[in-house]
Amino acid sequence: MKYVSTRGFEGRFTAEEAIIMGIAPDGGLFVPESIPVLSDDDIEQMKNMSFCEISARVLSKYMDDFTEDELLGYTREAYSEEKWGEDPVPLVQLNSYNDREYILELWHGPTCAFKDVALQLLPHLMTASIRKTGESKKICILTATSGDTGKAALEGFKDLPGTEIIVFYPTGGVSEAQKLQMVTTTGDNTHVIAVNGCFDDAQTGVKKIFADEAFNEELLSKGIKLSSANSINWGRLAPQIAYYVYSYIELLRREKITKGESINIVVPTGNFGNILAAWFAKQMGIPVHRLICASNRNKVLCDFFSSGKYDRNREFYKTSSPSMDILISSNLERLLYEITDKDPDKVKDWMNKLNTEGVYKVDPQTLKRMQMLFVGGFADETGVSKTILDVYDRTDNIVDTHTAVGFNIYNRYHGRSGDECKTVFASTASPFKFSAAVMDAIKGEGFSRDKSIEEVITELSDESGLPIPDAIKDLSSKPVLHKDVIEKEDMEAKVRSILLG
Ligand SMILES: *Cc1c(COP(=O)(O)O)cnc(C)c1O
Repeated sequence: MKYVSTRGFEGRFTAEEAIIMGIAPDGGLFVPESIPVLSDDDIEQMKNMSFCEISARVLSKYMDDFTEDELLGYTREAYSEEKWGEDPVPLVQLNSYNDREYILELWHGPTCAFKDVALQLLPHLMTASIRKTGESKKICILTATSGDTGKAALEGFKDLPGTEIIVFYPTGGVSEAQKLQMVTTTGDNTHVIAVNGCFDDAQTGVKKIFADEAFNEELLSKGIKLSSANSINWGRLAPQIAYYVYSYIELLRREKITKGESINIVVPTGNFGNILAAWFAKQMGIPVHRLICASNRNKVLCDFFSSGKYDRNREFYKTSSPSMDILISSNLERLLYEITDKDPDKVKDWMNKLNTEGVYKVDPQTLKRMQMLFVGGFADETGVSKTILDVYDRTDNIVDTHTAVGFNIYNRYHGRSGDECKTVFASTASPFKFSAAVMDAIKGEGFSRDKSIEEVITELSDESGLPIPDAIKDLSSKPVLHKDVIEKEDMEAKVRSILLG
């Protein structure tokens, strides 16, 4: 299996090369040349498999230089009971009296967000890729974060020999807990830097550094190679496909669906990585009726799925679901490539327009193809709050602000469509990560205003009966180890001073 760039770069690359490079040489994203399909035998066998085993099987289809056994070794280490509890990604039926809705809890990992699923595994894939390709350079992971990727990547790569990790987060664009998690990170190879601006500024800055050939040459000559832990890296995306396959297998073995029965998948979306993983699961043969792409007030994707026009020239809102406060959803590029039957010229043209004018419009055929599968929708802040309370009242489950965006969109979709397909909700973060917004939703606006973050977290634990996750405990008593704040223009200079002194 080889990987190519969405923008038509001539070379073909192995999975290992794609993982090490992170982004294609022409600024495009790596995609597999063809999408592997799960056979009937695969599905039958998976019914007797654990999540780790399913994950290894799915990944083996995309990485043919790795044996399934080797990958199983990595998934077992990445998703150990010690780090995740007994069931790494529990699929929880929402109501005992309705068997339509299921929450796929993706936040039982070390930093309480779904990004742990991929970022606990990526360091294993990266190390193995370095070994297999004979790469001798030090790998520096550059990452922009809207809050959750940063900490998950830091935990994954902390003190990993042969690597350095630099995380840029937008000042004020992340929740208090997210920020404290990052700036208290230990480890000799970790660097956390605040950038004055929003997530898109940080992500654009990182992409610019990747695209600066002279700078990359200079780093190479000093024995350093840049890579990415954002979902632009294929090694970040592939592990996410596995949990959608797993959720389908779970429904099959619990006899909630029959073989071949289609399900819906609801994904609160920012950079379009997680929902794209669900799309890949569908292409691999998992029967999916609708992919529901849920946005917050930054509803650029919702508008895109209705009009075919992607327009980032709009007001940017800070919301209670900060990990989705994104106007440039990078992974859409991969979908566009696939859905235009792999037309790199079209993709390149659209991405250039996005870069220069901030807007592009796809052709009617492309739009129609997307609309056959994707349902877009957006929720405003009041809607998110109401939904948290509603889900709690109805089911006794407390969902975080991001997951609530998904419920909000789905509830309205279900109401108007009458679509009764079994539905899996990607639950992307623990409510403890967004305790203040969640408690305000349940107890009333302003509830947490004058309380310390610890008080609010304790109240949430009392209310929900859930233990406070270790990752969230005692956050404000840990020493702050990373204090740098820079302007977005200075990101490259910062990387230079960290790596070259
Ligand atoms: C990153 C994140 C999202 C958005 O996922 P994308 O893959 O960027 O679309 C949603 N919810 C939470 C909690 C996140 O951390």
